Amino acid sequence: MKVVICGAGIAGLTLAWWLRRTGAEVTVVEKAAGPRSDGYMMDFFGSGYDVAERMGILDELRRVAADITELVYADGYGRRVGGLRYASFQEMLGGRVLSVMRGDLETVLRSALRHDVPIRYGIGVETVRDVPSGVDVELTDGTVHRVDLLVGADGIHSTVRRLVFGPEESFLRSLGYHTASFLFEDQELAEEIGRRFVLVGVPDRQAGFYPAGKGGLAASLIHRCPALTLPADSRAQVLDAYRGLGPLIDRMLEHCPEDPYYDYVAQIRMSTWSKGRVTLLGDAAHAVSLMAGQGSSMAMGGAHTLATELLGADVESALERYERRMRPFVLRKQAAGRSTADWTVPREAWRIALRNRLFGLADLPGGRSLMGHTLRRLGASVVPSAG
Ligand SMILES: Cc1cc2nc3c(=O)[nH]c(=O)nc-3n(C[C@H](O)[C@H](O)[C@H](O)COP(=O)(O)OP(=O)(O)OC[C@H]3O[C@@H](n4cnc5c(N)ncnc54)[C@H](O)[C@@H]3O)c2cc1C
Repeated sequence: MKVVICGAGIAGLTLAWWLRRTGAEVTVVEKAAGPRSDGYMMDFFGSGYDVAERMGILDELRRVAADITELVYADGYGRRVGGLRYASFQEMLGGRVLSVMRGDLETVLRSALRHDVPIRYGIGVETVRDVPSGVDVELTDGTVHRVDLLVGADGIHSTVRRLVFGPEESFLRSLGYHTASFLFEDQELAEEIGRRFVLVGVPDRQAGFYPAGKGGLAASLIHRCPALTLPADSRAQVLDAYRGLGPLIDRMLEHCPEDPYYDYVAQIRMSTWSKGRVTLLGDAAHAVSLMAGQGSSMAMGGAHTLATELLGADVESALERYERRMRPFVLRKQAAGRSTADWTVPREAWRIALRNRLFGLADLPGGRSLMGHTLRRLGASVVPSAG
């Protein structure tokens, strides 16, 4: 079977790894000029963790995992106003969780692929045409590939989705926030926060940062913004939105690069992810949003499910089964993302205070058991248990 995967992100690389094992002839095309290291830190559990275990890359991920001891809600001066110990979080998930930077996960997946699957950087998909024996995929370098399957794993702003299913506006549902993230270095700040993930929240805005390995730091920002266009100058927008949250955050903002990662906090909702021999995977199909978390985990779970269904089945019925298996997990996650948004970045000061206190309950045995139950239900794995 010949497959073109558009997008060498978390979903695309995972699918390439699994398809390579089935003997498929896989080409991955990636719009970026080369591997990208930016992105945020993820609490990696559920499907993603299970798939990584099956791929035999858990040790690599443990080697690059961040060593965070505590999530701390702080005021603008860094004084603790709530939070929870990371050990409590790990205990709630039976130890099957890692904190991994998105870029590190991508690097580990890429090296697991070795050179078995070519990744063609700086190339995207130009046109897609159904033909009786497959699908013709014209790439931006002018070459045309006749394949059995085209997979759009090209993220929330997917080009394959636009070409095959229609404009982004038909599927992208903003949750009313924008998010930004960037990596930076600041020795003094790094020493001050140590191994803690520090979050400063005020109504409608939350700014945080945490150690990102090798003495570096990573900033993670969310603010309420109903605008359905992204700013031309994302750095200016970041400074404008987060200045004044206190000296800690003002200092972090001094390091904001010209071009931070900046996007809507949004979900992709579609009635179907496949058309003929074209299918969508990961965020392209069903972004769940930062509010729900686990986008990478869902992407890896989806890749494993798709690859499994393609084994020994014709493409159309495999795509149908892939979607049938994934959709209930996606719908549950998306609903959770919508309902938790008001608690993640609340509008009201009283809600922030309550949220900070409730989080602390996880450090108590009764609270841990209650929160652990909810967390495990939300993080339920799409991957059947190995045993
Ligand atoms: C550099 C980067 C930083 C990110 N940082 C954050 C963050 O801080 N917070 C957050 O919530 N989410 C972030 N995300 C999104 C997050 O990684 C995804 O939600 C999650 O990992 C799901 O993975 P995915 O593979 O479906 O999509 P992604 O990880 O987004 O991967 C999609 C890949 O497709 C490539 N691509 C896009 N368009 C084309 C095209 N036309 N042709 C070829 N390739 C294309 C992209 O460059 C990317 O490599 C980031 C994504 C990227 C690419």
